[in-house]
Amino acid sequence: MNSIILAMLLALGGQPVLPGDTAHTPEAPPRRRLVVVDAGHGGRDPGARGPGGTREKDVTLSVARQLAAILREDPSLEVRMTRDRDTLIALHDRARLANRWRDEGQPALFISVHCNANPSRGEKGFETYFLAEARTADAQRVEAFENASVQYEEAPVGGPMAFILTDLRQNQHLRESSDWAQLVQDRLRQVHPGPNRGVKQAGFAVLRGTFMPAVLVEIGFVSNPAEERLLNEGETQRQMATQLARAVHDFFARPQAVASTR
Ligand SMILES: [Zn+2]
Repeated sequence: MNSIILAMLLALGGQPVLPGDTAHTPEAPPRRRLVVVDAGHGGRDPGARGPGGTREKDVTLSVARQLAAILREDPSLEVRMTRDRDTLIALHDRARLANRWRDEGQPALFISVHCNANPSRGEKGFETYFLAEARTADAQRVEAFENASVQYEEAPVGGPMAFILTDLRQNQHLRESSDWAQLVQDRLRQVHPGPNRGVKQAGFAVLRGTFMPAVLVEIGFVSNPAEERLLNEGETQRQMATQLARAVHDFFARPQAVASTR
């Protein structure tokens, strides 16, 4: 039997063919993981304002851009920004964009970057939210403020039924979103003077409808004069972006990461 016939028989039997012949066993290219980076507010929605005049939308865009730039150095990641300039994107459109960018079954993460504000200027620190019912008065306050961006939007959001369906689809990501939020806090605390206000939950409109693990991080209070200065510092922004990028890698490196891609 000559080698060509042998090769054909082996191929028919599902066995490996001759060495060097890989034409029959093509390997799919490894799937890139999608990271959606959302800079809070923008355009006619300035977000929170600091006593020194800082606008939340400028800080969030700067940190989000740096985060995206760092993540793009990793070829295994596909990085998208909901906005990369000073423009307003409706809250529900941010989720819609994220879902549209994601291929079926593609591992994905969503992070929305914000700055906190409080009438009490002494409040400071960083906290990360995942989507669920707000549990504390403070979480409700932050939720109400961030959701108030809707006032700048023109398009109506879906009716109550759409919300119910969205919630059902989203429950499967609750646990992962909670883990994702914890990883963000763990990384930020390495550069943030704090306090670490921890992982919290609230019903943010921007997270509602993102069918992937999703968090909203409040990287500091622009209402606190010292923290406002910090949030404006290029070096601080760079360090925060670096830590957020590490949190992304932490998430995809989790032991559960394989199961979570389904
Ligand atoms: Zn905000």
